[in-house]
Order: sequence, then C-alpha cells, then structure tokens
Amino acid sequence: MKLLCTLALSLFMIASRVRAFDRPPALATPGTESKQPAESLAISGFRDIPAEVAIENKFLAVPDPKLAEAHLRTLTQAPHIAGSPEDKATANYVAAKFREAGLDTAIVEYKVWLNYPSEIRVDMTAPPGVEMHGPRPEHVDDDPFQDDSRITPGFNGMSPSGDVEADVVYANYGSPDDFDKLKELNVDVRGKIVIVRYGENFRGVKAFVAQERGAAGVIIYSDPKDDGYYRGDAYPKGPWRPASGVQRGSVGFMFQFPGDPTTPGIASTPLLPDSKRISPADSAELPRIPVTPLSYADASPILEHLGGPLSPREWQGALPFTYHVGPGPAKVRIHLKQDYQYRTIWDVTGKVPGTSAPDEWVVAGNHRDAWVYGAVDPNSGTAALLETVHGVGELLKSGWKPKRTIVFASWDAEEEGLIGSTEWGEDHAQELANAAAYFNMDVAVSGKKFGAAGVPTLKEFLREIAMAVPSPQGGTVFDAWKKANEPKAGSSHTPESSGSNYRMPASGLHADVPVGDLGSGSDYTVFLQHLGVPSTDIGSTGDYGVYHSAFDNFAWFKKFGDPDFLYEQQMARVYGLEVLRMANADVLPYNYEDYGKEILIYLDAAKSKAQDKFGDKAPNFTAALEGARHLQEAGAKILQKQRKIPQDPARINGKLRDAERALLIPEGLPNRPWYRHAIYAPGQYTGYAAVVIPGVNEAIDRGDLRRTEEQIAVLAAALNRALIVLEQYR
Ligand SMILES: [Zn+2]
Repeated sequence: MKLLCTLALSLFMIASRVRAFDRPPALATPGTESKQPAESLAISGFRDIPAEVAIENKFLAVPDPKLAEAHLRTLTQAPHIAGSPEDKATANYVAAKFREAGLDTAIVEYKVWLNYPSEIRVDMTAPPGVEMHGPRPEHVDDDPFQDDSRITPGFNGMSPSGDVEADVVYANYGSPDDFDKLKELNVDVRGKIVIVRYGENFRGVKAFVAQERGAAGVIIYSDPKDDGYYRGDAYPKGPWRPASGVQRGSVGFMFQFPGDPTTPGIASTPLLPDSKRISPADSAELPRIPVTPLSYADASPILEHLGGPLSPREWQGALPFTYHVGPGPAKVRIHLKQDYQYRTIWDVTGKVPGTSAPDEWVVAGNHRDAWVYGAVDPNSGTAALLETVHGVGELLKSGWKPKRTIVFASWDAEEEGLIGSTEWGEDHAQELANAAAYFNMDVAVSGKKFGAAGVPTLKEFLREIAMAVPSPQGGTVFDAWKKANEPKAGSSHTPESSGSNYRMPASGLHADVPVGDLGSGSDYTVFLQHLGVPSTDIGSTGDYGVYHSAFDNFAWFKKFGDPDFLYEQQMARVYGLEVLRMANADVLPYNYEDYGKEILIYLDAAKSKAQDKFGDKAPNFTAALEGARHLQEAGAKILQKQRKIPQDPARINGKLRDAERALLIPEGLPNRPWYRHAIYAPGQYTGYAAVVIPGVNEAIDRGDLRRTEEQIAVLAAALNRALIVLEQYR
C-alpha cells in the first residue's frame, strides 16, 4: 500500500517538476517553487487534508534564499563562542526576528560551568634537534576571516588544566579495540601522552578510553586521510581541511550526562543556589586528564618521530611517512591553562500558543553558538530556522492559529555539552511531559545530500514531509533522498565530522530511504533520552572538512556549502512542515507498529550477540521479544483507529503521547541514571552513534550475564508499560 502511494506521488511529482522548472532557474526566482495538490499527498493524521495542504502551500511559498543568505552573513560576521558578547549579539538578532514574526519571545539565561582557553601549548621536547611549538594559528593563503583576534586557539571544551610531559604513543582512533591492539603489541600507554586521530567515534570517548587505560594526556589531531587532502582539495581550493585547520570540540563525557557539568538533572537557572550544584571535581561529565587538539601540520613531526612497532596497516593515515606506534622517542609537553568560570548563556525561545491543545508543545530547536564563525555548524541551521519562523509568521498574520503550542528555540552552548537545550529541558520537564514532538536541526546544510534520523514512530512522518517539499535537484526531497541511497549512488560519504548521525537503521526497514537512529551529538538528547519526547533530526550534508575550525565561515559556505542558498530554502521548508503538521494534526501521526518492528530487529541482533558471548549460558530473551511483538500488534491496531480520525481525538492523542514516555526507565540506565530511555542512548564507547536497547547491549558487551538478564527484564517491563497504554484506548 505504501508502495502504491509513493508511486502515484512520484508520478505526480514528475509532472509538477516539469511545471516548476519551465522557467530557467534565473537569479530572480526565489528558489524552487512549491505547490502540492491535496488529493495525491500522503498526510497522516488529518480529517481535512485539502485545508491542511492549503496552509502548507501558503507556508512553502515564504522561505527565501536571499533572506537566508542575509541571516547567515549577519550571524557569522564575528566569532561567537557561547557566553561571549558576540554570542549575545546573535541572540538579540534571533530574538528580533522571532518578534517580527509575532512569536511570544524570551531570552532565557542560564549560569553554567564553561572553560575558555587561557594558555594552550604543545611543545616537542625530544628527540633532540626536532622542534614543534603549537598550536600555530590557523592560516591559508586566502581567507577573509582568519585573522580576527577573537578566534580562540585550538582547544577542547571541558578539558581540565594540566601540565604533563611524556613519551608519545599513537593509538589510531582511540577506541577500546585500538587500545587492546596496543596491548597486544606490548605497548604500555600508562603515564604516556596518547596521540589519536579524529573520526570514527566521539572525541569525548577518546578521552574517556585513554583515561581508563591510564594515559597522562591526550592529543587529538585531524589526519588528512579523514578530512584533508586525501579526500580532495583542501580549503581554499576545495572543501577539505587545510594543513593548519584545527578541530575544536568538547571532550565532556556526555554519554554520562550532558548539560552543565555541575547540575545533572536540574536546571542551572541564574538563581540556583550553589548548594544545589555538585563540585566540578565530582562531576562524571568532566575528564581528569588534559586533552587538546592539533592540526596535522603540528601533529606531523610528533608522528614522524615515533619509533617502536610498525602501526597496524589500517592505522596508517595520509601523512607522507610510515606510522609507528611508539612509545617515543618523540616526547611532548602539554601545558593547558583553562579559564573555567560560571558564565551566562542565552537561549532564545519564541512561542505560538495553541488553540485546542495548548499543553501539547511542539518544540523545534537549533543551536546558535559556534566554536568560531560556525557558518555550517550551526548557523546554516539558524538561517534556515529563521526562514521557517518567517513562514510561520506570515501564516499568523493571515489569521491562522495552530492547534498545539509551537515553541521555536535557539539554543546556546551546544558545543560545550548540549548545555542550553539540556538546561531548558530540565527546566521545563513538567510541561514537556505532554509535548508532542521535538524537532532538531543542527547543521542544516553542508552539501546536497538530505538525511534524517528519528524515533521509529516518526520515520514515516519524516518521509511524508520529504514528499511534500521540492528539491533543488528536481522532483521532491524524497526523490532525491531515495536516489542518493540507491546502491549505485557512488561513495557518498557522511564523515563523522559532519556532526550528524544519519546512518542506516540497524533494521534495514525501508532500506531505500533510510531514516537513522538518534544517538547523541546534538540537542535532541534531553528531549528524547531524558524526557521521552518523540524526536527527529534533519540535515543536508556533503564534503565538509572545515568542521569546528576558523574556516567554517561565510566564505567557505558561499563557495562550497550552498552558493545559491537553495538547500537553505529546502531545509527551512522541511523543518517548517514538520512543525506545522505536528501542530495541526487532528490525530498525532505516530506509528507504533513501526516501533515494535524495529525493536524486534534490535532484539534479534542482541540475542545472537548474546549467544556468541555467553554460549549455552545465553539468557532468555522471550519476555522482551514477546513485549516487542505485542507492541507491534497493539501499534497496528491503534493505527487503524488513528486513520479513522475519532470525533474527539484528545483521548487517543493522550495515549499516543504517553506510550513513548512509558519507555522511560524510572531508575535510568546502569551507572548513568540521567539516561532513561529503554530503546536509545549514546554509546558509552561510540558517543555519537546510537546504542539501541542500550541496557541490554552494553551488558552483553561487558560480558556481564547477570546484568544482561536484569536488563532484559527491565526492557520487557518498559515494553509492557507502553503496550498497556496503547491497549487502554478502545
Ligand atoms: Zn552543531
């Protein structure tokens, strides 16, 4: 049925594409035009589809590439790290645009524990005759933004201060497997400075594992193989990382808990008494060993002067010498003085009150703070968000009102540890218990490849939205998305450095148009994984090697990101339709049948992993498998009722909302109680990527049979709670 629907739709879209592109795509046209016909669209949850389509068409006509460009130019005119006066100026700009659109706007302050770099030095002290004094400033032949004195040196957020000198060991990507490999090679990392390359896992995981294994300090560098000249031409000739480009970034242990490191589970409001805060020295979010990043220009002499065993061949990067693992004779001194203080940050929120279901908030957020200029990360998202708000503002001016309350949010201090969103989420936990959805957009555009991630209940919703928005490539976003995922589409690669997490679902459901799972690495974390609000994340990605460097600026974006801002327009439209549909739907468009199906697939994978690990002692998965199967059946049943659109949908909507909350584990995951979702968490050893059914999978990975059994029971109980909520609706 789904197939037929899609086919009819794409046939229509082919026809409409011809119409929309009759005219040459001249500069004068405000991007791609969009008009959808009421009758052939897949829109779940509405009684009067033509009325909804009319509203959506009105909205889709508003987002404007030229205005998105103007927003991005303004937002990125100066470096604006969280808590700085320049960051405040961007908050004021966003607040002014929210007000212009008629939103009930507030700048919300939190007081949070943040470091700025005060003294950052990495010096080679051996072998004799080799010199390296870093980090050297980022510089290329021609870039209009690189000489601003407000650009910080390369540094890692949440690293402690420290002064250590030691022999160096190379540990590839710094994963547990990499450290195990070093052990096999008889290389002892205790007391050493470990140098690892960016990529494969979250940098906080690299710091965490190095600390666990007894390293004295960590250097994280960008190897040209991962996002530099090996991938293509380096900036300014191409989009990849130049020799001096440094990836800043937080090394906080966000897989323990995100947000202000001194207030797990509570909001860092300006008036919060100090007695309610934990001491930074006791915070599970903060690393204990100094960690700092380097460009490959600075890292190269260190790696070149490592002796010891030849590195495993797959550890070889793209620098022009053979990599060895050490230890020594390269010796390095890391000297870090971090300026830690409680600093004020500024979230901006803009509300539109709902008419018939004002308590069911639809929250849509993007972060605004950047390590430097942040043209791609995150302000491509902010510019798109502002055009979404522009469109909603036009609807408001025409007298339209949403059924549910819409809250647009511009988060601060995401880069340091998802801080602005986490504090706000903790601050509004009560109201958010009734929220309908959280929609995230971080990097809106670094290229042309659309991607999305979300809870299984919203995966079909995301596909339906993509079917209603035109792509600058012709056809719809859905068509382009599908095409890019066809096996022949080539080696389109989403680097870790895109900061996105749009991976194939483990399930392979609708493998032609894959919607990823939500791990961590952006602001949906508190909403989904702490509060149980169904969430999605969207972005359009491409070749992008300047992540978290001074070169992620307006000049790069104009040249390589989205020169005509047509993908900015696309993302503003997709984001806006997510918000409008969720805020207007008669019946919430969640699909619990899909949820049950995916959990079954996760469980099957975990079961065979457990069999490999524990042999004939492998635990019994029946209770959890039965729970997932019944959830799928109950999901299918309630879906039939959802499709009929009950006369008074308040009751069915209440059940649909509560079912996701029922998947929260009251006591949280083992050893990290802040994370309460039974199905999704960031991996303790992967960081960005989702670990599905995390309690069970991580217990198996540890080889802990008793905990595995216990966590299967915890999961089965959560699935049964969700099931009962759905079955209560008759
Ligand atoms: Zn970001």
